[in-house]
Amino acid sequence: MTFASKNQFREVVQNYAFNNGKEIKTLKNDKARVIVKCTQEGCPCRIGLRKVVNSHCRIGLRKVVNSQSWRILNMKDEHEGCSWVWENRMVKSTVVAKRWATELKDHPDWMMKKFKDKVCNKEGFYVIDEQAYRQIWKARKLRVCNEEDNFKRIWSYCVEISRTNPRITCVVKLSDLVDQSDHERYLRMYVCWEACKQGFKNCRGLIGVDGCQLRGATGGMLLTTISIDTNDSLFPIAYVIVE
Ligand SMILES: [Zn+2]
Repeated sequence: MTFASKNQFREVVQNYAFNNGKEIKTLKNDKARVIVKCTQEGCPCRIGLRKVVNSHCRIGLRKVVNSQSWRILNMKDEHEGCSWVWENRMVKSTVVAKRWATELKDHPDWMMKKFKDKVCNKEGFYVIDEQAYRQIWKARKLRVCNEEDNFKRIWSYCVEISRTNPRITCVVKLSDLVDQSDHERYLRMYVCWEACKQGFKNCRGLIGVDGCQLRGATGGMLLTTISIDTNDSLFPIAYVIVE
C-alpha cells in the first residue's frame, strides 16, 4: 500500500487504533522511514514505511508524476495477547473533535458530561473531564462552518423566531444582484423583538444609535438603536445587519 504523505499514513494508523482499541507508538520517524508498533509488551504488530521517489506512480486513480510517496515495506498486522486499551494515549482531542463534529452539530444541547459519556461508550476509551472539555471545544470550533452556509439558513431562522416570538418584526431584504448560479443574495436584515417593543414603553424618551463593523469574511455592519431603562442601563430596541 502506498500513501501520498506521512500524514496520510499517520491518519490511517490513528483511525485503526481508534477502531480497534490499540495504542500504537512510533519507533522511528526520519526523512526516509517510519516504523510504528503496538505498545503492548510482546505484541509483534508492527508496520514499516519507506519513502520512495518515483518518476511517476499511481495513488488511487490519480497519476502523480515525479512525486515521492510512502510505501509499506513490511507489516505484521496481527496482535498477540493484546487487550483493548482503555487509557489510550492516541486519543488526541483534535482527532476526537474531528470524529464527533457532525454528531455534536445534531445535538447542540450536549454538555460536557453527556458528551464524555457518549465518547467513552461509543469509542471505548476512558476520557477525563479536562480532555472532554478540550474535545468538545475543538469540535464546536470545527462546527462553525463557512459563513455562506449560515446565510443559507436565514429563512429557517426567521421562521423559527417568528414562531417562538409572536409579534416580532423580522425583515430580510435581498440584493438586486443575482449570482451566476441564480442564487438570491442577502443584503440586509432587521430584527425587533416583541419583548424589546414592550420594554421600550417603560424606557426614558431617548433613542440612541450605534454601529460596529462585522469582522467575518463577509464584512458588513451591525447597527442598533438603544434606549435607557428605569435602571439607567442601556436597553436595545432593534438591530439591523447591513452591507
Ligand atoms: Zn498489539
